Amino acid sequence: MRAFFVTGTDTDAGKTAVTAGLLLALSRLGTEAFAVKPVQTGCTEKGGVPEAPDVAAWRAAGGRGEALFTFRVPCSPHLAARLEGARLEVSTLARACRECLSPGRVTLFEGAGGLYVPLNEEESMLDLMRELHLPVLLVVGNRLGCLNHALLSLDALDMAGLPVAGMVLCRTTPPSLADAGTSPEAEALILGDNAARLAEEGKKRGVPLLADIPYDASFSPADAACMDALAARLEGAARLLAQEEDHGEEEKERLAFDRAHLWHPYTSALNPLPVLDVAGASGARLLLADGRELVDGMSSWWCRVHGYGNRRLVQAVQRQAARLSHVMFGGLTHAPAVELGRRLLRLLPPGMEHIFLADSGSVAVEVAVKMAVQFHQSAGHGEKCRFAALRGAYHGDTLGAMSLCDPVTGMHTLFSGILPKQLFVERPSCRFHAPYDPSSFEPMERALRTHAHELAAVVVEPVVQGAGGMWFYHPSYLRDLRALCDELGILLIADEIATGFGRTGRMFACEWAGISPDIMCVGKALTGGMMTLSAVAATGRVAEGISRADAARGGGVFMHGPTFMGNPLACAAACASLDELCASPWQDRVQALEKRLAHGLEPCRSLPGVADVRVLGAIGVMEREEPVDVAAWQDFFTARGVWIRPFGYTVYVMPPFIASEEEVDTLTRAMVEAAASAAAHGGTPTRGE
Ligand code: PMP
Repeated sequence: MRAFFVTGTDTDAGKTAVTAGLLLALSRLGTEAFAVKPVQTGCTEKGGVPEAPDVAAWRAAGGRGEALFTFRVPCSPHLAARLEGARLEVSTLARACRECLSPGRVTLFEGAGGLYVPLNEEESMLDLMRELHLPVLLVVGNRLGCLNHALLSLDALDMAGLPVAGMVLCRTTPPSLADAGTSPEAEALILGDNAARLAEEGKKRGVPLLADIPYDASFSPADAACMDALAARLEGAARLLAQEEDHGEEEKERLAFDRAHLWHPYTSALNPLPVLDVAGASGARLLLADGRELVDGMSSWWCRVHGYGNRRLVQAVQRQAARLSHVMFGGLTHAPAVELGRRLLRLLPPGMEHIFLADSGSVAVEVAVKMAVQFHQSAGHGEKCRFAALRGAYHGDTLGAMSLCDPVTGMHTLFSGILPKQLFVERPSCRFHAPYDPSSFEPMERALRTHAHELAAVVVEPVVQGAGGMWFYHPSYLRDLRALCDELGILLIADEIATGFGRTGRMFACEWAGISPDIMCVGKALTGGMMTLSAVAATGRVAEGISRADAARGGGVFMHGPTFMGNPLACAAACASLDELCASPWQDRVQALEKRLAHGLEPCRSLPGVADVRVLGAIGVMEREEPVDVAAWQDFFTARGVWIRPFGYTVYVMPPFIASEEEVDTLTRAMVEAAASAAAHGGTPTRGE
């Protein structure tokens, strides 16, 4: 199935003529071709049926095509639609365009005007192109100033991540009329030079100039000789469009290399679990190299709350990359870091005053642990260097963080000789939605009272224990913990790396309990998943404690400073992500997701093999009675068009906040089907059910 988007450097660049010529040239090559005008303005009516001028022109030239959304006034689509009380939306247009795709023919979608022609107040033609993600054919109107327009268009397409199949240069106006004041000789020189320069610039960018169409071959659909000449000039371009591209071999080789040489998380280097090749992603969908689409149920491990391809985020990174992608943070600072600090302090729970920017979630936990130790050390309590953590916890894969993970499901047995021995307390038994049972706090109380003298801090994931088992516990537990830590002089570290930025229905899970920790770690969704970044926030008391100038005990400085600390690109992405989040109705979205997930997963409850179903915020969990066979479940889900990767006993989803109802239903339906198939096949779903 081959399809292209034909766009121009401007209005009247010659798109319609080129499309008509291509239709003819393709049919001469024996290739079926069809053109589509997603939006046509300037339509007339014939017997109550709107007649689209471009479609009429293609037909007059012997081609086939249709217009999807038609308007009378010949002006920009957004205005033409508004004048008729309508509103164009990229999502609707894209859906209608996709319906025109058909295997066995070349489909040419012709835009209106240039790339930034508005479709509504927010979206432009380029957004539609981005959504369709088709290779682009750029028609350049050959006139004075066209090099500038062409190069700007190529840059914009490049920044939008769109592949450009080639350019066609087209003269649409008779020489002496167009560029008044220029002599015919000078004009011929200009037009010739345009072609030469465009070919050269195209070569640098890997974009061929496929044809140079002079005025005398300009478009007149009823003139067979003229169309003949036009089709002949476009024969090379048509051959390129007709070529069936087979990326199958390339993909096979890529996967083979990956399997042989690239280590993936938590799997064997020599006999790894299978992986899928992702070519791109848009909204809540992953686009695979083989053309399949999967609804993303994982938000790429909690982080892609705005989904993929969000304009604000992409542009923020592009802009920052052009300005300053990285500079050391030792002795230097920059606007993105300061701006991020400002935004975080506005959002974080009260009392957080100092921010340490780190590279990843695990490093943030290391930093928090070091802060707690240094805090007590500078107060003369070097003996307070152990940590209390919860069973079922997950805090990361570096050594310090790993020592705080559940000692059974974590990796303690593998690394027992090297890991610090922390104090583990049974996980809070009082569930989130049950009335609080104060006795659920007793194990923690006993442990802290017994070990207070040696404990630097308690580390918890507030309300939701994530990768350790997706357990939701009662917020009052945190209130009790906060009070006891204060009483015993133990710091409270909240690991909000997974829960932060709205996932549980509150900006931070600590807000469910109305508490502030002494140290808080955030990461994952901090950048909306654009790149890795984490932050460790501390209260004034913690920062002052560490900073107490005492040369004998470390001189009052915090001893950590990674190379990429405060990376400007990551900070700019984080600023954009927080702006996007705060500008969006995220609470409503998460609430709606919660309802939809709860409703969709309800049928799992009654199926054999299901131990529990629970939903909180935008997290939906089906706990199994037996551990899952990851490869089999993943395979089952992929066959149903969803990306869900279970682990241990849990099959769970946490879609991007922007996922549509339909997408969420696709996810929950797949989970119900998988559970039903597992029930019928000894606990493991079987593909093809
Ligand atoms: N803490 C929690 C609660 C997490 O969920 C994770 C990652 N799953 C981490 C820490 C570690 O973060 P990272 O993978 O970015 O190192």
